[in-house]
Amino acid sequence: MFDILIRNARIVDGSGLPAFHGDVAIEAGRLRHVGGHLSAEARRTIDARGRVVAPGFIDPHTHFDAQLLWDGQARPALEHGVTTVVHGNCSLSLAPLKAAHRPKLVRMFQQIEEMPDAAFEGAFEWTWEGFDAYVDALRGRLALNVAPLAGHSPLRMWVMGEDAQKRAATPEETRAMQDVLRTCLEAGAVGLSTSYVDVDETLAPVPSRHAHFEELDALAAVLGEYGRMLQVVPEFYSTDITVARVDQLAELSLKHGIPTTFSPLFDSAATPTNVSRVLERVGEQVARGARVWPQVQTRPIDISFSFEIASLFFVTQPVWYMILRLPHEAKLAALREPATRASLIDAAEPGGVSPWGNLRVRASADASLIGRTLADIAQERGSSPAAVLIDLSVEEDLGAHFIVARMGHDDPARVGPALADDLVHIGASDGGAHIQSFATYGDTGYLFSTFVRDGKYLSLEHAVRKITGDTARIWGIRDRGLLRPGMAADVVVFDPETIARGEELAAHDMPEGGMRYVRDARGVDTVIVNGEVTWSAADGYTPARPGEITAY
Ligand SMILES: [Zn+2]
Repeated sequence: MFDILIRNARIVDGSGLPAFHGDVAIEAGRLRHVGGHLSAEARRTIDARGRVVAPGFIDPHTHFDAQLLWDGQARPALEHGVTTVVHGNCSLSLAPLKAAHRPKLVRMFQQIEEMPDAAFEGAFEWTWEGFDAYVDALRGRLALNVAPLAGHSPLRMWVMGEDAQKRAATPEETRAMQDVLRTCLEAGAVGLSTSYVDVDETLAPVPSRHAHFEELDALAAVLGEYGRMLQVVPEFYSTDITVARVDQLAELSLKHGIPTTFSPLFDSAATPTNVSRVLERVGEQVARGARVWPQVQTRPIDISFSFEIASLFFVTQPVWYMILRLPHEAKLAALREPATRASLIDAAEPGGVSPWGNLRVRASADASLIGRTLADIAQERGSSPAAVLIDLSVEEDLGAHFIVARMGHDDPARVGPALADDLVHIGASDGGAHIQSFATYGDTGYLFSTFVRDGKYLSLEHAVRKITGDTARIWGIRDRGLLRPGMAADVVVFDPETIARGEELAAHDMPEGGMRYVRDARGVDTVIVNGEVTWSAADGYTPARPGEITAY
């Protein structure tokens, strides 16, 4: 008797080959049959008539590090069909991490990934320092699979202490880092993540940015012993520097025989040649045999914010950014102070020209303001957009929310061909991060609705392959990403006519009731992880915790 029998399926197997009809049988966590018509009995039978049955989606760029410790279902990523996540991206991971460095690392997470105190403080128990003990802490909690990266920043802190954020490593320290990285890879790390752009809570460069190339080269040599991934955040705001990073990653890939990936790669009207120039160089390096995978996200860039936190929206406005970092009362006092208010407005609107007129009010105590642009309200008040932003926030005790929609990466006619490109790795969702700026869930639904169904930039089979079979192959994740007998039974059943992402909504479901933006899934019926149903549209989340640390 099978555990699960999915009948009458339109099977899209993750290879990119044309879909075919048949049944899928699951037993003891593995796929037993894929295709054919089976008359055998099963404990649970799912009629998938009119539905697609595909491998579970793999999200290669998330920051679920903290969330997985108090929410092993990574809600709501799982209900969108995501059955495996890579976390520990962008140089930040919760292991290897000495107890003394926890507060510092948490502050970096909060700064870079915009996660509140409540996501860490009291939300889980720190029971580990080394990567092996961390992986043990995850076991048994997970409803979906994880491929954890070791972060370069905590790795440096482990070996160098406070000096990690001050200087290059000595040869002895580099050798010590190699040894620690080896223990991480032995314990199940999928690779190493590093960053060239991120800053800590004092706006100082994170530890990974103090590494000289020799250090990265030495760490890549250890990755080469295992053939594991190097993930990098390049200086994505500059095409020239990103192209140089592509060359550097290609050298490391060729020298050490490792895959490399970098993220994000964005399209925008302001930098219309960015994607084409970077992909041209990636193509040249791939032709030499290098493995360099740019990650491109599917969704447009929308940023929401209130003055409660210093949103990434203000990173290019240091005067604003520093004031928004103050505690609540001090912030209100500063915003009320006429000279400070004037200097903020001056910085944002040099010469009286405002770049913020198209921002809209997203939430306000005054319902009549919701949905209106700041330009519109400014005109009514005889004010300016930046002044309205300050005044509304002060009037509402910082409770007003604003949104700037479609800041870039928003033209399907430009993003669609990039997503379809063989050189592009679909990813960069940032799942679980920036939780009060935008919802990082539903990028897969958006891929199918916008780029398969509406725009026809990818076939259904191509899109599935891009987020399943390709992802597993790029990352060297064994046993997943394809529907083949003997492989792990990670399966998603969905309606190709309706799969989409829901509206972005504010939810108060963080530990301590903290707010974040989420999206529900549309058109997903059933999500199966290692042979167990973990979510279904009919019954919601199940108590099953079948998630594993993936094998490479
Ligand atoms: Zn990231």
